[in-house]
Amino acid sequence: MNRPSSVVVGLVIVFAFAGVIFGEGTLATVRVDAGAYDRVDTPVGVSLEGVALWPGEGSFMLVEKASGETASYPAQLEAGSEPRLWFVLAGTTKAGTKRTFSLVRTAKAKLVGVTAVETDKYLDIVHQGDKVLRYNSAIVPPPEGQDKLYERSGFIHPLWSTKGTVLTNIHPKDHIHHIGIWMPWTHTEFEGKATDFWNLKEGQGTVRFVRYISTTEGPVYGGFEAEQEHVALKNLEDHGQDARATGQKVVLNEVWNVRVYNVGGPAKGYRIVDFVSTQRCVASSPLKQVEYRYGGFGYRATGKWDEANAEYLTSEGKNRKNGHATRARWCDTSGEIDGWEGITFYSHPENFGHPEPMRIWPEGQVFFNWAPGQLGDWEMKPGEDHVFRYRMYVHEGKITVPAAERIWQDYAEPPKVTIDAAQPKAAIMLFDGKDLSTHWTAGNKDIGWEVADGVATITPKSGSIWTKENFGDFMMHLEFCTPQTPASAKGQARGNSGVYIQRRYELQILDSSRWELTRQNRELGNNDCASLYKTKAPDVNVCRLPGQWQSYDITFHAAKFDGKEKTEDAKIKVWHNGVPVHNDVKIPDKTGAGQAEGPEPGPILLQEHGNAVKFRNIWIVPL
Ligand code: MG
Repeated sequence: MNRPSSVVVGLVIVFAFAGVIFGEGTLATVRVDAGAYDRVDTPVGVSLEGVALWPGEGSFMLVEKASGETASYPAQLEAGSEPRLWFVLAGTTKAGTKRTFSLVRTAKAKLVGVTAVETDKYLDIVHQGDKVLRYNSAIVPPPEGQDKLYERSGFIHPLWSTKGTVLTNIHPKDHIHHIGIWMPWTHTEFEGKATDFWNLKEGQGTVRFVRYISTTEGPVYGGFEAEQEHVALKNLEDHGQDARATGQKVVLNEVWNVRVYNVGGPAKGYRIVDFVSTQRCVASSPLKQVEYRYGGFGYRATGKWDEANAEYLTSEGKNRKNGHATRARWCDTSGEIDGWEGITFYSHPENFGHPEPMRIWPEGQVFFNWAPGQLGDWEMKPGEDHVFRYRMYVHEGKITVPAAERIWQDYAEPPKVTIDAAQPKAAIMLFDGKDLSTHWTAGNKDIGWEVADGVATITPKSGSIWTKENFGDFMMHLEFCTPQTPASAKGQARGNSGVYIQRRYELQILDSSRWELTRQNRELGNNDCASLYKTKAPDVNVCRLPGQWQSYDITFHAAKFDGKEKTEDAKIKVWHNGVPVHNDVKIPDKTGAGQAEGPEPGPILLQEHGNAVKFRNIWIVPL
């Protein structure tokens, strides 16, 4: 399957460059402040934004020297614009204390604690050999004799406890459409019609898996990103997930990011699973959410739990009798099968409607739902991202309030981390967010681009800018963000800019996200984002949406000349948002409007092409 995997990137090359640029030893100093709470094996993520670590997946380690002892812990890089470093703050770190680590890169084989095992029907996340959860990518048919409308993909089931108990349920007789852990909306209006994505029997809507965006395996966490779509069905005859018949309309595009941390396990009797759903209305009209008692992130518990052997407890002390329609930071559901086990559900403080209202069943079996729609009508407008973050603490034994609160504190108020990067040797900061005039010129006129809040924004029609210095071979990092453009703008008229290397070869910048290409009904071309303009398309399309920051990391080797005779083509390697998209590609000639090739070095030019593209954090290291 042709998609980026964060574990398969050329280690050897990364190490070679790391050696040249950073030398041996510490890449950065990582300082952790536990803050107001005791921490125990806390997963911690910290932004590497502005930290000039060369991208790629190496084996990163945190080395701690304390009380004469040296200990090392695995760390994991999450690629992307705003790459993040993840690690487990191992052991107990008392409130008010600080720990200091050196971040180093090692050539040792990567330890893997959490793996992702994919089949053509599902993907299992496995923690140290034990299955944690299964994401169903293939359509799961309804039970025998039930309507085809109940078929469904894009949900989690089973989710296993640390003892191997299945804690989810699917197709229970009382609600055939309940499927483990899933996230459809219930009472909505779309284009003037009631559209229910939850109650599949209505035939108004459904949700389905589209594709995996990534899978990740690593020493700190493993997981997956999957794209799903929420589809309005125009007619009952559309019947479920059959061919994408005329009359079906994709309303929401959704990305699930699910990860399991390498903490806990059977010996400790718990696991931590993070769930993030990013939803965007991709239709031309909004999805209206009508106030309702349920809809959103749902959990249907094992059918072996019922009123006699199962409980709810919320962060506000409510239970199954008085919990429904109250609001909470967390809610625990638990019960007894072979011993007591449960899941505590946490709603992130940044979630819409937090602390979120909940749907809790006052009697019978166990069902739980974060239901922001209880707060009233709301709307998902075209082009706006809605992000829902939840954590699941899967545990053995009855939850205690201190244990639940400790996980809450880790989730909502994580330890504070600062990173002091070792700057790359000889790095030239071409744009540090303050001033373009030091390193850039617009020729005979003044630079017309606007600089504010650490960002340089193109003023359309003001002209391109280029570096005062010329470069031959180099490594370069830059971040950019394309603007929203009217729907009528297509092709090269959307978010166009570019990085002209030596003012000769353009690495294109364009709004070429896969959603945009779908909208324009066209394939990725060699003039799209991250292409070598009209020369080569990127190996994969990882272009993000307008308004989102993206990065290029480039290594470039200039063409070689014998006098005026070219003896070797220029060669380039490019990572787009941390994903390799050109791997030592030869560039046969200048591109588009570039200047003619020649033996002399040249400047880096940032193209003005009529769109207000933004730039930040641009640095270069001559090689
Ligand atoms: Mg361009």
